Amino acid sequence: MRYEDPVFRPPCEADSLIIQATIGCPHNKCTFCGMYKGKKYRVRPLDEIREDIRMAKLVWHRPRSVFLADGNTIAMRADDLVEVLDCVTSTFPLVERISVYGGGRFIRGRKVRDLARLREHGLSIVYMGLESGDDEILRRVGKGCTADDYVRAAEKLREAGIELSTYVLAGLGGTERTREHALNSAATLNRMKPDYVRVRTLALLPGFIMTGELEAGTFEECSGRQIAEETRLLIENLEVETQFLSDHVSNYLPIYGRLPAEKASMLAAIDRALAEPDNPILGPRVLHSL
Ligand code: SF4
Repeated sequence: MRYEDPVFRPPCEADSLIIQATIGCPHNKCTFCGMYKGKKYRVRPLDEIREDIRMAKLVWHRPRSVFLADGNTIAMRADDLVEVLDCVTSTFPLVERISVYGGGRFIRGRKVRDLARLREHGLSIVYMGLESGDDEILRRVGKGCTADDYVRAAEKLREAGIELSTYVLAGLGGTERTREHALNSAATLNRMKPDYVRVRTLALLPGFIMTGELEAGTFEECSGRQIAEETRLLIENLEVETQFLSDHVSNYLPIYGRLPAEKASMLAAIDRALAEPDNPILGPRVLHSL
């Protein structure tokens, strides 16, 4: 396989075969994200992708899951993505899961019948960064989507039979909008009804547009304690049946559980962490491996 670095994948796809069907992100404007800043978005030629899948067969005899990178492979033309999915399933007939990253902006306008075709040809799950359900935060960070757009995109995926795993970015509203971030994200997720809600925590690295806002004093980051309180408020207000995970290295607290069944125990875990003054878990993070 040939990769154009850097290559990103969700933490839960760590054991998956990764095939780069696209390079970069066609949006590439979010102020908190530097993942694909050095790449110009393009779809790789189908022959090249097929060749990579054939090369993968030489070393991966039976991958259980395949992740089609990069940042928004759902933006490919449906016919082309169907060809890639067919090539994966014919090369690896025992594959159990094929997944992509898919932004709400690239799903909200798609026909359900096109998404259903992708499902029929093997696409089983889309990882979507909601980041926040608060329209003011979405506008400030340049997501190019409103909460209603995300709800529409989630409805389309559900109608098509594709699972949805969505990310909330804790701390994205800073100290100014932490409450709105939690409450409006919960309200939007309750309407989206995703199969999985995953939390990551804002980590501003050199070169991000938002890092400049932090340095200029126009954005104030939440502390670990404020992030825990925000996550508590989010979980408290979720009324959807979903799996909640915080499986990312950027997070302060490992909070996992099935909602609504395990809501009380998840809130109790956060309360225990908050009850301890100067709890080192909520202290400054060391982000070696983002
Ligand atoms: S957060 Fe997602 S949509 Fe936004 S620039 Fe990064 S990869 Fe693209």
